[in-house]
Amino acid sequence: MSAPRVNLYSDTQTRPTEGMRAAIAAAEVGDEQRGQDPTTLRLQERVAELLGQEAAVFLPSGTMCNQIAIRLHVRPGGDEIVLDRTAHPVNHEAGGPAQHAGAMIRTLDGDGGIYSIEQLEAAIRPPSRYFPRSRLVSVEQTSNLGGGRVWPLERMRAVLEVARRHGLRAHLDGARLMNAVVASGVPASEYAGGFDTAWIDFTKGLGAPVGAVLAGSRELIDEAWRFKQMMGGAFRQSGIVAAGCLYALDHHVERLAEDHENARLLAQGLAELPGVTLDPSRVETNIVLFEVKDAAGLVQRLADRVELQVVDSRHVRAVTHLDVGRSDIEHALEAFAAVLT
Ligand SMILES: *Cc1c(COP(=O)(O)O)cnc(C)c1O
Repeated sequence: MSAPRVNLYSDTQTRPTEGMRAAIAAAEVGDEQRGQDPTTLRLQERVAELLGQEAAVFLPSGTMCNQIAIRLHVRPGGDEIVLDRTAHPVNHEAGGPAQHAGAMIRTLDGDGGIYSIEQLEAAIRPPSRYFPRSRLVSVEQTSNLGGGRVWPLERMRAVLEVARRHGLRAHLDGARLMNAVVASGVPASEYAGGFDTAWIDFTKGLGAPVGAVLAGSRELIDEAWRFKQMMGGAFRQSGIVAAGCLYALDHHVERLAEDHENARLLAQGLAELPGVTLDPSRVETNIVLFEVKDAAGLVQRLADRVELQVVDSRHVRAVTHLDVGRSDIEHALEAFAAVLT
C-alpha cells in the first residue's frame, strides 16, 4: 500500500478537528454588525488582551487586517510604507496597498524577512517637497517568505523606537505571531503591545476555518469598522466561525511546538540530501524554506507524494501544521530521498 500524500503546501491546509466542529456547532450567535454576536465579542476581547491592545475587530481574513490597517495609517496619495521585500502586502495582496490606500511601498532587503535598524533608518525619508512621505513601518512576525524566522524582541523594540522618533505609525503582521510566541517564550503582548495595530490569523497554524482579528487603540478600531463595512467584511452570525477561533486559542497554541519540532526534523533530513541547500539552524518555527536547482521541477516530481509550494525558480517552501505528524515527515523525507538520490 502506498503512503498517503503529505500536505506541506501551507499551514492553511488544516481541517477543523472534531472538537473544533463541536464548539462551532454549539456557538451562541447574534447579529455581528450590530455588536450583538456574543461569541465574536468574546473573541475580540480575548485577542485585544492577548496582544496588549485596547480593542479588536473580527475580520474575514488576514489580508483584510493588513489592508484595513494600512488604510488607517496611510493618507491616500503618496504616503510611503517601509517593509521587508518578502512581506505579504508587497507580494500577495493583489496590489491592495495601491488600491485601498494609494500607498507607495519601500522595500528593505532584510535577512530572512528581518531587516536591520540601519536599513530602516536609511529608508526613512527626511521631510521634503520632492519625496514621498514616510508614514508607516511594518514588521512580519514570523516572516513567511523569509522562512518562518522569529524577530528578536529587541529588534522589534528598536523598530518601534525608530518609528516613534520619526513620527511614523507601526503595524505588526502577526499572521504567525503565536508560532513566534511558542518558539521564543515571549508573550504575545510583549511583541504586539507597542504597535499601533497588530493582528493574528486563525487559519494558519491555529487551524480554524475562517477569521483573523485586528487589534489597536479603541479609536483606531472604531475607525477600522468603517473600512470593514466599506469593504464588505461585516458579518451576521459570525459566532459560528468565531467559536472555532476561540477553540483554537484554548487548544491549538501550545501544540505549535510539535509543528516546530516536525519542521526541524524535516530540515535536518533535507539538509543531508544531495542538491538541497538548507541550514537547519535557521528553521525556528513551522516553515522550511530551501534552495534547489529547479524548484518547479522538484515540486512536480514529488506531487504524488508530497505537496509543496514553489516560492521562486530556486526556492521551495514546506510548512508543518496540525494535520502533519512525525510519521508524515518520515514519509515525506523518503519521497525526497527517492527523487533526489
Ligand atoms: C497568510 C498571511 C497573510 C494573509 O492572511 P489570509 O488570512 O490568508 O488573508 C498575511 N500575512 C502573512 C505573513 C501571512 O502569512
